[in-house]
Amino acid sequence: MIKALGYATKHSFTGLKPLAFEREEAGPSEVEIEVLYCGVCHSDIHQAENDWGNTVYPCMPGHEIVGRVTKAGSAVTRHKVGDLVGVGCMIDSCRKCEPCTEGEEHYCQGPNSWLATYNGPMKPAAQAPDGKNAYGRDNTYGGYSNVVVVKEDFVLKVPTALPVEAAAPILCAGVTTYSPLKHWGVKAGSVVGVVGFGGLGDMAVKLARAMGAEVTVFTTSKEKVAEAEKLGAKGVVEGDKVAYAALANTFDFILSTIPEKHKVDPFVPLLKRDATYCAVGALAQIPGYDNMQLVMQRKSLAGSLIGSIAETQEVLDFCAEHGIAPDVQVIPIQEINQAYKRIKEGDVRFRYVIDMASLKQELEAA
Ligand SMILES: [Zn+2]
Ligand SMILES: [Zn+2]
Repeated sequence: MIKALGYATKHSFTGLKPLAFEREEAGPSEVEIEVLYCGVCHSDIHQAENDWGNTVYPCMPGHEIVGRVTKAGSAVTRHKVGDLVGVGCMIDSCRKCEPCTEGEEHYCQGPNSWLATYNGPMKPAAQAPDGKNAYGRDNTYGGYSNVVVVKEDFVLKVPTALPVEAAAPILCAGVTTYSPLKHWGVKAGSVVGVVGFGGLGDMAVKLARAMGAEVTVFTTSKEKVAEAEKLGAKGVVEGDKVAYAALANTFDFILSTIPEKHKVDPFVPLLKRDATYCAVGALAQIPGYDNMQLVMQRKSLAGSLIGSIAETQEVLDFCAEHGIAPDVQVIPIQEINQAYKRIKEGDVRFRYVIDMASLKQELEAA
């Protein structure tokens, strides 16, 4: 076993604290990774606080992991010791169902769906003494830790052209916005709306701009309009009825990145005929919409979940090629609870990224 240290919340609504635990040694097809940086996703907070009702405690979040391979199993062919690699939201899937065999393992329909990087089913039980998760299994621990062990197929190559700390959020925020932009055919000349301008919105704008789209950001504040303009997008304050009227029937695609309940009704009239409004951030429910608005111009409401492993590699390479990186603020892990508070209160536009070197001092003290 590998002795490991991370930050976890032991019970709902308590802060994250240091937790010593053990990980299994890398098997033949697995790599051991020293975690260098881990992004802080809004999902981490939802999970730590049990907003989805399926959290197994202790809960150690973190699914935007960038690190260095320190060990490779005997059958590993894709990665070698010293490689800079990434791990996103998934670390395994059933590999047999239709989505898996079609390279869309993030929609795995196997009995346990895909295996989440944290709060997913995994042995040994000793790591989750408080109980079982929604799959009736034990709990995985994520990247708020000094080391992870992952099957090589679910490990991404991080291009050297990317700033290491800024690569981390591409593994969730990046692919979560890239996948729907690609699926709904956004290309040069497309007119794209981005609703919400936090960590996901930031990436959605940068990626859509790099694809050649014309982008409008819908945001809650005038200050953020100016931020959107800096990225080459237009900005509209949410609820501005005059601006909305002028934009009626103009969008090919609208991507909503709002991580809370929100109303869809104001945005549907802005879609062109046959266009789609897709929610990626709304893991909570979307309040009722007026179906008449959809049928009159054959519009669609849609959802999209993260992206496949292949798409995750694609978006890492796309960002390196186009010189795109998320806006990040690097913090020591000791500031994680304040970061959570600021994300919940302030709807921060950048992504917090934990510098895992800060964990070393606690490891040495332990
Ligand atoms: Zn995430
Ligand atoms: Zn599957």
